[in-house]
Amino acid sequence: MNNTKYVSTRGNGGTITASEAILKGISPDGGLYVPEEFPKLDKNLDELIKMNYQELAYEVLKVFLTDFTEEELKNCIRNSYDEKFDTDVIAPVVKHGDYFFLELFHGKTIAFKDMALSILPHLLTTAAKKNKVSKEIVILTATSGDTGKAALEGFANVKGTKIIVFFPEDGVSPVQKRQMLTQEGENTHVVGIKGNFDDAQTGVKTLFSDSQLLETIDENGFMFSSANSINIGRLIPQIVYYFYAYGQMVKSSEINSGDVINFTVPTGNFGNILAGYYAKKLGLPVNKLICASNDNKVLYDFFETGKYNRNREFILTASPSMDILISSNLERFLYHLDGDYNNIREIMNSLTEKGEYSFEITSKDIIGAYASEEETFSAIRDLHEKGYVIDTHTAVAFEGYRKYAKETGDTTKNIVVSTASPYKFTPEVCSAIDNKYKETDPFELINVLEELSKVKPPEAINGLDKKEIHHKLICEVDKMKQIVYDFLNI
Ligand SMILES: *Cc1c(COP(=O)(O)O)cnc(C)c1O
Repeated sequence: MNNTKYVSTRGNGGTITASEAILKGISPDGGLYVPEEFPKLDKNLDELIKMNYQELAYEVLKVFLTDFTEEELKNCIRNSYDEKFDTDVIAPVVKHGDYFFLELFHGKTIAFKDMALSILPHLLTTAAKKNKVSKEIVILTATSGDTGKAALEGFANVKGTKIIVFFPEDGVSPVQKRQMLTQEGENTHVVGIKGNFDDAQTGVKTLFSDSQLLETIDENGFMFSSANSINIGRLIPQIVYYFYAYGQMVKSSEINSGDVINFTVPTGNFGNILAGYYAKKLGLPVNKLICASNDNKVLYDFFETGKYNRNREFILTASPSMDILISSNLERFLYHLDGDYNNIREIMNSLTEKGEYSFEITSKDIIGAYASEEETFSAIRDLHEKGYVIDTHTAVAFEGYRKYAKETGDTTKNIVVSTASPYKFTPEVCSAIDNKYKETDPFELINVLEELSKVKPPEAINGLDKKEIHHKLICEVDKMKQIVYDFLNI
């Protein structure tokens, strides 16, 4: 029987259980929780690839969340991966030409964040019960567009919780913004900030370590937790679809069980690809994980040179959920390679103080790739000609993969992880295919995209332009703390 405990990447967070780590979100020392030792799965690959999504989810979750009972986990899973998804398969692998895509956008908010955020509220409320938490849980979230809506959907009207989402006012797509501002639910609060995603994320991290704030909310019966991918309750459910995708490749005879494959992942905060790395550590036969960046290619440069340098222009691209210069989950990867939390603490201090650090990357599991804006658009156009329309984020990965394959000659079968429905980014996708749509209203483009893609618009955006706006607040970054006090009435 596994008993997986969690420690902070910076060493001063103590050793805690999975449910405690989920409740806390981030360690008080500013580090991220990681498993103290990597668990092993109870079943072998041939057994795993026969399973459906829910069964597989249980096999993965149970070895990481060892203080949850079987019944608790199965309940959480049953209530998450259900008809909220528009396909029974939950996460289908599709093939177009010689390319494979793992579609992770069949949930309620049509982005891959639903894969983890449909289960996180269940894990969190179960964790609260287990730990006899009587406080109301306040979810603080910074979003580059997709996490916000998926977290809002997950936590809206969940008893014992409130959620505050901060998003960069000028850094999300029209559909993303509209989805968030029209969110219903008494316990939800959505605030635009005058800054970029890094400002929002740093602002939220600062709130988490503000001891005076923490004390005050504690006295008033509240505690903070996080719905960002810094929470292991989000990271671990993402491991599941890597195994599941592999199983589909075996079932469709594209590979034999045991063969290695590659995954190319459009990356921002490094959460998705880190889950792929965890899958490999659990024994999934993965050759390379290709980490694809847009023009904010801080990660590409890091994997090329070992130098992480965020001192550069922050570029607003057509793939806003990847417009990130401080990639939080990279800290976990470095910790797993290095194993010395003193070193990690030093590196992270250097990142805060100087905006850069160097690190000797001893693993070849992850390799960088990137696509410029122009390359991203032409990738969308190319693939549309072959009969498949992808969103801008997926296009970054697709093009990143094509460049990687050309440069290296690697012929290992590759799955492009497809992180959003093209319907979430209609202006960029439609005008990539035909420039004449450049000025068309984003909501009118829904019909155009249906024509272009021959795929019906998902439920998530039906009537979105007519929905009532419930959230109108915009604030400066230094007002985030006051916003929290106001929302909690303290
Ligand atoms: C969040 C997101 C990403 C980046 O994922 P990370 O886990 O932050 O690396 C990529 N594409 C889309 C559509 C997203 O919503």
